[in-house]
Amino acid sequence: MDRRKFLRVMAMTATNIFLGNEEVFAQYILETWEPPIRKLFLRFTEYELRPSTEMIVIHHAGFPDGDKDSSAEEIHKFHQEVNGWAGIGYHYVIRKDGTIEQGRRPQMVGAHAYKHNRNSVGICVAGNFELAKPERKQLDSLKLLTARLCQRYKLNPMKDGVIVGHRNLNDTDCPGKNLYSKLNEIRRYCRDF
Ligand SMILES: [Zn+2]
Repeated sequence: MDRRKFLRVMAMTATNIFLGNEEVFAQYILETWEPPIRKLFLRFTEYELRPSTEMIVIHHAGFPDGDKDSSAEEIHKFHQEVNGWAGIGYHYVIRKDGTIEQGRRPQMVGAHAYKHNRNSVGICVAGNFELAKPERKQLDSLKLLTARLCQRYKLNPMKDGVIVGHRNLNDTDCPGKNLYSKLNEIRRYCRDF
């Protein structure tokens, strides 16, 4: 919840709108709460609304020269200038310190999983998880974000094909064996969230 939303909730509570109506209050929190996301307002050369959201695709940055941190800004520049795309293909990037950064706007069609972009959200975890292991803080943020996305889009995390690794869709190692092996743990976290 950002500061403005927090203050709004406090203001409403203060004026007794929620007094004796905990259900409405709980619903409000459920609908508006977000894990802390660093919004970057990156500029894209085109925007297209995604028709539906049925799947969350987990990626790693996977630079072959090693396991390193990368920011949404760096990936944005790379995808725009080298790949010639509208901008960063992922909707979220999770940094090594656990910070969640906004990439493509959440409601837009991404560019992260060939032939599966029109019904999916793409999350990129910074690092190369064929070579190294994800940081604890990255996994914590990934779980929280994925759980929230399941809620927002009314997805059943335990259903086949809802929370997937990029390798389930295209011919790639992504998200690396050391992150791919965490997907069941992430699904269970989302189920119990
Ligand atoms: Zn990928």
